[in-house]
Amino acid sequence: MAPGRYLIVALLTALLLGCGGGGGGGGSAEASSQVNTGESLYQAWNQSINYASSLVRCARAKTQSEACTVGELPPLGTVYGRLTVDLIAERLVTSHRWMGDNFVAAIRTLPEEDLLIFRSVTAIVIGHDIRPSFYTSLNGAIHLDGAFLWTNAEEAADLDTNTDPRLAFAKDLTFIEASRYLNPGFQRLTVPNLYKADSNNSRTIDQLSPSLLALVAHELAHAADFLPPEELGRLDSTLTVFANVARFPGLASDQLHQTYPLNSLMLHGLAGVFFQGKTATDQQKLITAAQVGAEFETEGANDLYAYSSASGGGVLYEDTAMLFEEIMMRRWFDAHRDLAFLERPATDSTFCNDFIIGWGQRNRMADPSVQVRAKLISDRLLPDVDLSDDYASYSTATTLSRTDWCDSNISSTGAAPALQLFNNGRQVREEVIIPMHGH
Ligand SMILES: [Zn+2]
Repeated sequence: MAPGRYLIVALLTALLLGCGGGGGGGGSAEASSQVNTGESLYQAWNQSINYASSLVRCARAKTQSEACTVGELPPLGTVYGRLTVDLIAERLVTSHRWMGDNFVAAIRTLPEEDLLIFRSVTAIVIGHDIRPSFYTSLNGAIHLDGAFLWTNAEEAADLDTNTDPRLAFAKDLTFIEASRYLNPGFQRLTVPNLYKADSNNSRTIDQLSPSLLALVAHELAHAADFLPPEELGRLDSTLTVFANVARFPGLASDQLHQTYPLNSLMLHGLAGVFFQGKTATDQQKLITAAQVGAEFETEGANDLYAYSSASGGGVLYEDTAMLFEEIMMRRWFDAHRDLAFLERPATDSTFCNDFIIGWGQRNRMADPSVQVRAKLISDRLLPDVDLSDDYASYSTATTLSRTDWCDSNISSTGAAPALQLFNNGRQVREEVIIPMHGH
């Protein structure tokens, strides 16, 4: 494995250790402790399953020596040919029971055939101290930030209030990237995850579902990328998920980049600044929002995050996950997706009305160079679900007009205060984690 992958593990360890709050966070040095307050909160959501304790132990493994074999906790799709919400819910591990309750309510809204996208996961872990969310090929589990799931003040009070340190990255650049999903009426589809007593203090399941299910689609794309559906019948039950992954010849993300590579050195470099905290060069500090947009428009990605790589180069897992996320949001919500590069204001504002669109597109998925890449991915990750109507529903990508990000190009929903730009509140993005080789 490339030495660069050590870097992301180091970064992740730092992020987890930075979590404060629940009593220690979960750095590897503490992972085996059973008295860790934060750790002891985690329980199987369905206590009636007979493997509840091993589920929690396997799902929360943090080192290769702790990781379970596929025989101990098999991916759902190796056990069941058809998945239901109740079967998926058997693999839920939560720090607070309401997180599982709300998750189950949200996924009940999905078409049943689409539940097949859960087949490559071993567990769904949701917690108060998981920030950012992540998938790890160590054990094949997805880990979701509980902030996506609260519905009232009481639930929100259970969540840690730490901030994703990556929000501080790239302050030296003249632009930021922003994206949003809109409903068919061009209104914001998502509500913020940040609880505010005066302005954002209750959410229905229908209101929280779009953000949550975008995240779920994204993380499940990672899961199906690392454990491809066509390989599930050939897993070695005596090995861990990680050891099985190493046996597969070509992941969907490999195929994507061999077939349709992302070539822009500028964008690869900028992604390193935004998502890995690299120091911006003098040259990068001069790049404008309009310039980065013009560069981006000629490539086949749908987000700058596509250029983020767990290995600092090499395979771009986030490219795969972003493409899959967008087409599933189209399928589930008829969502329009806006992507823009915004001019950073002179003042240190976090409010969207202070940011001017330097370049922006709506429904970039309509661009043939993007769509052909997304189809390659969805054909690999979800081969048995026909997405052709969803792809055909796009007409053309449209340009966002040059105004501020708040209210431009969308339908007014009435009162439109200066909204926090970072609509997940405290989190930029999730993370994908590839464990270090232990030898
Ligand atoms: Zn990801």
